[in-house]
Amino acid sequence: MRYCKSCGFPVPYGKFLAWTPNGTIIGRDSAHTRLVYLEVDELRALFDGVSRWMNFSIDPIICRAEREVGKRFIKTLMPGFLARMPRGKVARPEPAIKATSRFIFNYMAGLGMGRAEMVEYVSNSHARVLVMNPHSVPLIAGDGTGVFEFMERVGVSAGWERVKSDEFVITIQKVSDEPPVEEQLVLAEIQYLPGNVELDKCQKCSVPWSVTKSIYLDLEKGVLRHSQTGMRFVALPAQSFDAVLTGLEREFGAELPSLMEGLEQKYMRETSAVRYSIPQGSPVVNIMADFPWMGIGNPVAAWVEGRKVFFVVENPFHPGIVAGKVTGLYEAWTGSIVRTGWVEEVPGRVKVTLEHVA
Ligand SMILES: [Zn+2]
Repeated sequence: MRYCKSCGFPVPYGKFLAWTPNGTIIGRDSAHTRLVYLEVDELRALFDGVSRWMNFSIDPIICRAEREVGKRFIKTLMPGFLARMPRGKVARPEPAIKATSRFIFNYMAGLGMGRAEMVEYVSNSHARVLVMNPHSVPLIAGDGTGVFEFMERVGVSAGWERVKSDEFVITIQKVSDEPPVEEQLVLAEIQYLPGNVELDKCQKCSVPWSVTKSIYLDLEKGVLRHSQTGMRFVALPAQSFDAVLTGLEREFGAELPSLMEGLEQKYMRETSAVRYSIPQGSPVVNIMADFPWMGIGNPVAAWVEGRKVFFVVENPFHPGIVAGKVTGLYEAWTGSIVRTGWVEEVPGRVKVTLEHVA
């Protein structure tokens, strides 16, 4: 792996990801996958929070929801020789699969998803993958299920077991001769609202300095950490997030979104370092300063009117979760508890209204 002489980041990073002026990070794969940096604990707080609320593990639902995303993500990322490899019920040579999987696993490691290794691949039967330091086992298992299904054109199931404290073996097993009827993801071409976010970028590799200064990438481990707080990050396809939330909503009903927003708000309120990093008395919009380099969205405005505080974010990676995030950040910054609500004024623009109570 080559590292940029100027900023120290792995050279391929800037080749694969583009930071745009509208607050998004877009992958340079053929589907222009949108990515968003989230804290791994944040993701787990959301998933575990729902599991606790339901009183059972939602891992199988996460895994199932991610399947189509994984299929699509890999399809668009696949190097040419894999794309030309026969799909369907023909035996694929294990060495070729292993070589290809290394490419994909490297990419995942660069995004902070941990390290993975194909242990075994038997065409038309099963595959076993060892994952170390995974950001989320059910998400990776979902990805793997999607890929195996896509390649082999069979129905599969996935399971996993812990083999060490942070190592898991995922087993993907053929269960039927036909893949399930594909639930096509709605792939409407997303139009982003234009923006004029300016991020200073490394001249050599074009990764923004705010990224290379804020996070440290241990590619061997597949782990991204915040340089100051040590918090672990992951760059997640925004679609994974959508797919899982939609899957959960379908399963648990309409109260699910507000539950997730509340969990996000609570997580930010309890963990954000914004209280120390943004001086009191700064313009309130500053608490969203990290949004553009993280791909969370474009924080276009924030203002105070009496007891109310308004925030406007364009191109949020998810309107409800970003509203929860803004609310929690504000609470962490001010040490107060607020009432919150949000509307999507026009598609792609979310307005969050906070109100101080008593
Ligand atoms: Zn650089």
